[in-house]
Amino acid sequence: MVIIRTIKRLRQVLSGYNRKGRTIGFVPTMGALHYGHLSLIKACRRENKIVVVSIFVNPTQFGPGEDLKKYPRTLKQDAALCKKEGVDIIFYPDAKEMFPSGYETFVTVEGLSRELCGLFRPGHFRGVATVVAKLFNIVQPDIAYFGQKDAQQAAIVRRMVRDLNMPVKIKVMPTVREIDGLAMSSRNAYLNPLERKDALVLSRSLALAKRLVHDGVKDIAEITGKIREMILRVPKVKIDYIAVVDQEHLMPLKKISGKSLIALAVWIGKTRLIDNIIIK
Ligand code: AMP
Repeated sequence: MVIIRTIKRLRQVLSGYNRKGRTIGFVPTMGALHYGHLSLIKACRRENKIVVVSIFVNPTQFGPGEDLKKYPRTLKQDAALCKKEGVDIIFYPDAKEMFPSGYETFVTVEGLSRELCGLFRPGHFRGVATVVAKLFNIVQPDIAYFGQKDAQQAAIVRRMVRDLNMPVKIKVMPTVREIDGLAMSSRNAYLNPLERKDALVLSRSLALAKRLVHDGVKDIAEITGKIREMILRVPKVKIDYIAVVDQEHLMPLKKISGKSLIALAVWIGKTRLIDNIIIK
């Protein structure tokens, strides 16, 4: 496994591989790797000859006052995990390598970026789409792996690839959870022990929603109302949104039917967490 910090070097190394019949699989991350990331890397390893993982805390997807500075950076540990999983290349550029001074080209997936988290994090998905587009151009993968945990990001990347005719297949892997149900996230590291317990309300309220649907409740207002009620029982929480939408367009549904995405974003103290489930 090699760790490569520049675009030029990465291109040299990738062009040295004989691509005939050998696919490049790619997992973009911001590091602080956990089992959620590892599930993507494992799938990538199974399905490709060459596995590239990027670790880049992308400044353009953080808003002013967000956690760019304190975002966990754990390269040594991440590299050890990648090595164990059989990763071939870690691409680890710094911010100047990706966004040199004078940089001014951005990709915006218009409508989808305004929904859900987009309402609360203006500019976030423009930063995400831009960096993913750049990484796709740099790595030129055949298949790229994303997590269902970030459902809106996955929908946006799929749309960008479709709209801009990017020759890459997108695979979205299921959300990996802690034993007690909390969706794994690098940001869980911010939670103190009490907040860690409180954070369970995200997955629990989604499980409640699933039970309600299973019991025949179809009315969205009733479902979101029950989720809200459960979340607000926890002190010091703030709900950004609870939404029931269709998975592809992220448009609000009137009734549960077919495949529905129930997504929420909730602040536990100073930490903003997201989670979602797909109801079939
Ligand atoms: P991040 O490092 O948070 O930008 O995440 C990198 C990739 O890992 C994204 O595609 C995420 O959706 C995915 N990911 C993060 N957490 C999880 C999880 N708990 N389960 C599955 N995928 C995840």
